[in-house]
Amino acid sequence: MQRHQLYIDTPIPPSRSCFLIGHPVGHSLSPLIHRAAYAALGLDWHYGLMDVLEPDLPAVLAGVDGQRIVGANVTIPYKERVFRLLDDCTETARAVGAVNTVFVRNGRRTGHNTDVEGFLSPLRERGATDPRPALIIGAGGAARAVAHALTGVLGWKDVTVAARNEATARALHGVGFTPWDERSSAAFGADLIINTTPIGMHPHEDASPLPADQPFRVEQTVYDLVYAPAETRLLQSASAAGASVIGGLPMLIGQAAAAFRIWTGQEMPLEAVRAALNASDTFGGAR
Ligand code: NAP
Repeated sequence: MQRHQLYIDTPIPPSRSCFLIGHPVGHSLSPLIHRAAYAALGLDWHYGLMDVLEPDLPAVLAGVDGQRIVGANVTIPYKERVFRLLDDCTETARAVGAVNTVFVRNGRRTGHNTDVEGFLSPLRERGATDPRPALIIGAGGAARAVAHALTGVLGWKDVTVAARNEATARALHGVGFTPWDERSSAAFGADLIINTTPIGMHPHEDASPLPADQPFRVEQTVYDLVYAPAETRLLQSASAAGASVIGGLPMLIGQAAAAFRIWTGQEMPLEAVRAALNASDTFGGAR
């Protein structure tokens, strides 16, 4: 018996599908984002959710044929485990050590990581890609994508990671390490501060990865990958002190837009996607 589930809620099978593979997948915003984009462009495509148990992972991935099932997103807990089940991967996926997007290239199922491009998209939009001292708070999966984006793609040299787990932080390529207890002073000295921990995420909106009395400078940019709420306590404090802030939504949309471009060959209609996210009750009025 197949244990994975494909929720297709369109009355007529669409011409093409993409889906999200993970366990669990129920809270993902990817269907909302991709379906809004398909609708805006009039594409007869569908984006489904696949809640997959590990024994079914090979069969599910084998279904990605680049034709009717064009591609897939991959989320927890399979971002690292899918490598061995794919024919190929991009340099970016290899550098990050995680796959979040699967597509078919020259007949080969290929793993890629669009978190890197998604993270960079709001920095590029602001023209904020010139090297600056940066502090990454946290050393998990998202931090790996952020570290590669800053050091591998942009070539920044002065990037430090503050984490409570020193070994995980030191495993990140091209970055320095700051002990967790010293993150406040390290943050004050950095021009770009990026929170990659879930601290401050719903339902813990009162929490922040930096102290409540953290001083900020107006020259600083504070980037929080948390997207629910859209403006975290960290961003509220930084903004009140005059620093520039970037929330997690632009990255969320940016990583989806990069996958969308690979699968459809078209640009994601960002205004339609933002409107769909605004109309949803996902952020509970926290925007
Ligand atoms: P992850 O792999 O579990 O990594 C989480 C990191 O945060 C780890 O280094 C962990 O440290 C640290 N951490 C967690 N709680 C902590 C605490 N109380 N004190 C100190 N450190 C703590 O998770 P992830 O996949 O990187 O995701 C992290 C966050 O980024 C989530 O909120 C996720 O929603 C968000 N995210 C957003 C986007 C976007 O598109 N906006 C994309 C990816 C991720 P330990 O190893 O010591 O536990």
